[in-house]
Amino acid sequence: MKKYVHNFSAGPCILPKEVMQKAAEAVIEYNNSGLSIIEMSHRSKDFVAVMDKSFALVRELLNVPDNYDISFLQGGASLQFTMLPQNLLPVGGKVGYLNTGVWASKAVKEAEFYGETIQVASSKDKNFSYVPKDYSIPSDLSYLHLTSNNTIYGTQLKSFPETSVPLVCDMSSDLMSKVIDVSKFDLIYAGAQKNMGPAGVTLVISKKGIFGKSGRKIPTMLDYTTHIDNESMFNTPPCFSIYTCMLTMEWLKNLGGIAAMEAINEKKGKLLYDEIDSNPLFLGTAAKEDRSLMNVTFVMKDPSLEPEFSQMAKERNLSGIEGHRSVGGYRASIYNAMPIESVQALVDAMRDMAKKHA
Ligand SMILES: *Cc1c(COP(=O)(O)O)cnc(C)c1O
Repeated sequence: MKKYVHNFSAGPCILPKEVMQKAAEAVIEYNNSGLSIIEMSHRSKDFVAVMDKSFALVRELLNVPDNYDISFLQGGASLQFTMLPQNLLPVGGKVGYLNTGVWASKAVKEAEFYGETIQVASSKDKNFSYVPKDYSIPSDLSYLHLTSNNTIYGTQLKSFPETSVPLVCDMSSDLMSKVIDVSKFDLIYAGAQKNMGPAGVTLVISKKGIFGKSGRKIPTMLDYTTHIDNESMFNTPPCFSIYTCMLTMEWLKNLGGIAAMEAINEKKGKLLYDEIDSNPLFLGTAAKEDRSLMNVTFVMKDPSLEPEFSQMAKERNLSGIEGHRSVGGYRASIYNAMPIESVQALVDAMRDMAKKHA
């Protein structure tokens, strides 16, 4: 294989090496069938078993209660921005949003096509570097939309509001990175490519009984009940993406499940944030109490040193640490599959940079 690269990409992102190996093998031939995973019928016994196992693993790992459905959809998290209000916002209803960044803003924009949107709070005043707290939630909202982890700005919700308003949450960039209580939400969704698998599949977990009340005519493919009723097989599912997600979930299970993963993620985050806080050259950009354990954002106190540090990172195969084009600086994404050795390699580079400029 090619030289080892520490992959800090925000998404599509690093997946476990053994997952990649198994996925690659399945592309050549799956399960001694003489067929590749990408050329066999999605109705075949072999692939139906992959679907069944994938549903079961989501349910087991996230402890999804029986009164929730699990779906594997397409169109990315971005299509959810449209499907949500179509399915959950009644004509004349209101939807609330916690505006914590680009993804939340994009979700609001799509909801505006369907009804009134209310921003319950926003952190735009400080370029989304913190998570708003102590806001009030109008009780007449059809639902409140949250983004649990702000991939671009490196902030993360450490708790979810206690409210009687149904909660809908975009967990694209931190689902399966820490223990959550699914029963607190009406609907959770996540594009796979940040923590679960390749792009092309979106996981949706929805409480039974929430659909069919919006009074809207919903095109078949955009209606959640189509996919739930057909066990995500109404049309051809993204077979390879789902298979690879299944492998990642098996890997996660073998590692001890999500609680074990959470402990590892905390360790990785601490290692990197401690360096950012103690290194004289670097500065974290997110408010300390809201720092994400998935996307770590930072800048150099002297921006004129950034080209030199970027060059050093390149020489050490630290890949994908440039900040999002809308923020600049650096962003190290340290998702589940990122080994602590790679985080250490970044920390070492930061230390060596500081020594050079002491
Ligand atoms: C990446 C991302 C999205 C967009 O996902 P797509 O699958 O590209 O549509 C939405 N929300 C969050 C939080 C993300 O990180």
